Amino acid sequence: MASTHHWNGVLDSALDAVGETPLIRLDRIRDAEGLKCNLLGKAEFFSVGGSVKDRIAKRMLEQAEKNGILIPGQSVVIEPTSGNTGIGLALACAIKGYKCIITLPAKMSLEKEVLLRSLGAEVVRTPTEAAHDSPDSLIGVAERLKEQIPGGVILDQYSNPNNPLAHYYTTYGEIAYALKTSNLRRKSISALIAGAGTGGTITGLARAVRDSEKDGAARATIVAVDPVGSILGGGDVGMYQVEGIGYDFFPAVLDPKPPLIDEWIKTNDDEAFAACKRIIRQEGLAVGGSSGSALAGALKFLKSEEGKAIAEDPTANVVVVFPDGVRNYMSKEWFLKQEEGSRDAELHDTIRGI
Ligand code: PMP
Repeated sequence: MASTHHWNGVLDSALDAVGETPLIRLDRIRDAEGLKCNLLGKAEFFSVGGSVKDRIAKRMLEQAEKNGILIPGQSVVIEPTSGNTGIGLALACAIKGYKCIITLPAKMSLEKEVLLRSLGAEVVRTPTEAAHDSPDSLIGVAERLKEQIPGGVILDQYSNPNNPLAHYYTTYGEIAYALKTSNLRRKSISALIAGAGTGGTITGLARAVRDSEKDGAARATIVAVDPVGSILGGGDVGMYQVEGIGYDFFPAVLDPKPPLIDEWIKTNDDEAFAACKRIIRQEGLAVGGSSGSALAGALKFLKSEEGKAIAEDPTANVVVVFPDGVRNYMSKEWFLKQEEGSRDAELHDTIRGI
């Protein structure tokens, strides 16, 4: 179904280095948790802009060019984002020669803002606590800018069908190809776990998985992960630090119910950041905070009644999406604060005594 390029030689531009990310065994965590299934991480920080959102930025922009919505030399790309879609868009705009303005809630990292500026984008910070429908929110400010700026276009990841479609075709295509060409006994997905921001990742992947089931694949369990403080998976609006997942409204691209998504699991900041550091420390994968949320959610699922049969099946393939890398969060307090326990005490004593 999906096209998967395997590049040889020289790429035409950075846009050809979007996606094509590896699916990596997490055996150390799997064994430490006493799981029998294959636990596999889709490491999206390998994509050229550093996140899962490069794919949708590229697809939304290219489709808008095809449809005449974006006109080179004229249009100004404006987008409300938690940063990663902005980085993907700013990168594409830099290459294609569009002006770009990103509205970004205050809580999002300095690393994202500085990278956006270096790619030539204007960054407008908005109050984190502004409700989505407030004129001061990232969405409200983007809409006001669009009204005032000639040629202003909002591609709108919250409603643009190319957001889930990018994952339906590319992200899913890569996972399916990786499994098919692996030495694993089973070649299909048994469970898929991903966080939801716009919901594009989980919705696009889930649709592709359900289509593969119509073609004969065994039924997979799709689990969405949502931070405490977001309404997507239930509960009240509140503040949390993890970036890129959770909202105070249901984006149109998110299809939150069965038969697509089977289950929602809530995670908090402490669980997410501990799991993020664990993936880095035990698997050598420098993933970001929402990857920690995804792993924490995956482990909760695998330890629940619903997940038990999968956890205990040595042929089951559990795929967890790791949306970005920790280089987006180096200056954040939660990352700067490294646990003493991760040091080798004996080595440390020797070093201190020198
Ligand atoms: N994690 C991070 C770090 C993100 O930037 C995003 C995008 N908002 C997500 C997870 C969630 O992806 P999606 O918007 O496809 O639900």
